[in-house]
Amino acid sequence: MALLELREPGLYCPAGDFYIDPAAPVDRAIVTHTHSDHACPGSRAYLTARVGQSLLRERIGAEASIQPCDYGETLTLGAVRVSFHPAGHILGSAQIRLEQGGEVWVVSGDYKLELDPTCAPFEPIRCHTFVTESTFGLPIFRWPTETETIAAIHAWWRANQEAGKASLLFAHALGKAQRLLARIDGSIGPIHAHESVERLSAIYHGQGIALAPTAPTADWRRALIIAPPWSQGSDWARRFGTVSTALASGWMRIRGTRRRRSLDRGFVLSDHADWPALLRAIDETRAETVWVTHGYGNPLVRWLHEHGRQAIAVAAPLAESPS
Ligand SMILES: [Zn+2]
Ligand SMILES: [Zn+2]
Repeated sequence: MALLELREPGLYCPAGDFYIDPAAPVDRAIVTHTHSDHACPGSRAYLTARVGQSLLRERIGAEASIQPCDYGETLTLGAVRVSFHPAGHILGSAQIRLEQGGEVWVVSGDYKLELDPTCAPFEPIRCHTFVTESTFGLPIFRWPTETETIAAIHAWWRANQEAGKASLLFAHALGKAQRLLARIDGSIGPIHAHESVERLSAIYHGQGIALAPTAPTADWRRALIIAPPWSQGSDWARRFGTVSTALASGWMRIRGTRRRRSLDRGFVLSDHADWPALLRAIDETRAETVWVTHGYGNPLVRWLHEHGRQAIAVAAPLAESPS
């Protein structure tokens, strides 16, 4: 029994009459998390994990009708029992578990297995069908540990201080920036963040998540500045004098990305599962069937076929280019 089908706006549950992460406005949208490619404004009603509620409101507007749901709490929508479970991706990110007549499907949203101080850890859930993302679904994507990456960022920052340069670190303003602020050692020097990062960090603070303090400083040459990638080359980014630039992203694992983006350094830090983590997460669901969305679907589908699983690539639309 198929609990989900692919329609124009995205994954639709006929028995419950709702979409999950629709790419266009619908009557009822369940939102796995607030990145722009998953949370499209304009739907009549939204359901989301309670801890992500303020982030969703910030994204889709004060007037939106948002029903929050605790992790693990069960709601009944039509003939379907629906619950939210942590996905470990960013604050409030959730996997969606659907159950009807003993049939269980889980939609992962974006996820990672590595622990992140800014969100609840990924919870493996048994299901018959697992709908997994595959943003980094190629065997070349293997992440170093977060500890290694943070140590490399600290060393780069200290070297820049010695060379009299500001350290301008680009990171996604939602999730990645806060994960960095939770892990980076503020005793090395002053930390400053772009206004778009600050606005979201305030919501994290409101949820009791400890982040390194940020402030403007008179001495940019000792400072670490955290800013969204789109601010690279902007007037705003020019105020810091001589800078060393870097990007923290899973894409830095691809050779040539750093040079193409004219960055001095690249740090591999992702809020998505890498290849081994995708395989482990899929395995732990014990799912008979895997739907692969989002990113490099086909290599993962092929690998799953070769290892005895039913798998299909599902081209669920995204509201915007993936984060
Ligand atoms: Zn995401
Ligand atoms: Zn995504």
